[in-house]
Order: sequence, then structure tokens, then C-alpha cells
Amino acid sequence: MKEPKKRVFITLLIVTMGLVGGTGWLLWYIPQVGLRNINPLLPAVLTVIIFGAVGIVASGVLLLIITLIRGHEIFLAQRLRFVVIKVLFPLMVLVGKLLGISRDRVQQSFIAVNNQLVRSNVGKVKPDRLLILLPHCIQINECNIKITGDVHRCKGCGKCEIKELVAVADRYNVDLSVATGGTLARRIIKEKRPKAIIAVACERDLTSGIVDSYPLPVIGILNDRPFGPCMNTRVDMDDVKEALETFISPANA
Ligand code: SF4
Repeated sequence: MKEPKKRVFITLLIVTMGLVGGTGWLLWYIPQVGLRNINPLLPAVLTVIIFGAVGIVASGVLLLIITLIRGHEIFLAQRLRFVVIKVLFPLMVLVGKLLGISRDRVQQSFIAVNNQLVRSNVGKVKPDRLLILLPHCIQINECNIKITGDVHRCKGCGKCEIKELVAVADRYNVDLSVATGGTLARRIIKEKRPKAIIAVACERDLTSGIVDSYPLPVIGILNDRPFGPCMNTRVDMDDVKEALETFISPANA
């Protein structure tokens, strides 16, 4: 994972943990007197509940930070992916806003961390159970061929990367689909029922795709947008090949 993305994520994690710890302390401290008046044992029960919960979250965050720093396989990667996707990420978007870190940077760091956690615990997948999902904007806008539904309608003129992506998908024998938006992407996933996904998109679509598809392992690849968003976008083919090799064993490639 690139260092700046890792740093953004670790900074947000530490600040988020500080806020969770502070909130836990307030929830413990404020009701103390009232609870003691009801029953002298209640403050001790509250202490165990709140400090136990904060302790569990803090241990998970510490494990996650160690994983990100070490940068390779770790213990409990899948469970950590659940915590990152379902618990920490929504909080980190809010913390990012408070710290003036743009949504794009928070999302980039989230995608990079998700990818690292997927890679650290990846099981190999049969090629026909792997899906490459592309945004429609990878197709150059002057091409009138309708490739949603069947990418093999591409005539292979080479004006956009669809030609190379189809060739790579065929070579690895994996499914390649193009979606015009989140609704179609969800429908494609429901129909094809892949075991793993390689998704190419912008920060926003990749983030929501990773969250919506959980627990499916998704490697997210950000597209390049030399002409601005949603138009004639590009993807680094080396990133696609690297993701394919993450999921497919060499014997199947
Ligand atoms: S490579 Fe395929 S999709 Fe891209 S412009 Fe040529 S025919 Fe159209």
C-alpha cells in the first residue's frame, strides 16, 4: 500500500479511537452518581461494560495498525475487514471532515486498506468464479457499440482499453462485465454470483461497491480520469493483472 494512503488511514484511526475512548469515558463518568443511588453495584457493572467494549475496539485497532505497518499477512484479517467496513469507515469519514481531509482521500485510504486486508487473507478462486467489473466510462464516448450485456461485441479497434481488458479476461478465462451504475453492478453480482470481484471505478463507486458486496472479497482499482469524471477513463492494466494473479493460482492462469 502506498505510504501516504496508509498514513491518512492510520491518522484517522488514531483520532477516531481517541473520540471513541473520550465518548466511552463520558458515558462511564456522567451516570456514576445516579447509578450508585439506585444500586451500589451498578457503577462496577457499567465500568466492566464500557471499558470492556472500548478495550476490544482498541485491541482491534492496534492489531489493524500493526498489520498496516508490517504490510503483510496477519491474524484475523477477515474480521478486521468487517470492523473496517462496517464500523470504522463511517466514523472515519466524519473524522476526516473534522480534520479537513477530503472525502476522496479518506476513500482512497479505505480502498487501499481493504485491498491489503483482502490480499493478506486471500483464498484462490476458480477463474470462472471471478468477476471483473468495469465502469461504462472506460469505453471511449465516441464508440457506439453497446458493450453492457456483452463485452465481446467490442470490435477491438484499440481506441480504448476495453480491447485489452477483453483480451486479458479471455486469457485468464474470467468473466468481464460493464456496469452503467450501482444498480446494474448489484444486478450483475446477483446473477453471476462470483466468489471474488476485481472492481474498477472512481473513489465513490468503489467505496460503496466494497461496502455493499461485503463479505465478498473485492479488490478495488481506481480509474484514471484524464478528461474528468465519468468520461473516457482509463485503468492501469498492470494493476488489473496483479489483482488477477492475487485471486487465480498460476496453474489456472
Ligand atoms: S476498443 Fe472496443 S469498445 Fe473501445 S472504441 Fe474500440 S470497439 Fe469501441
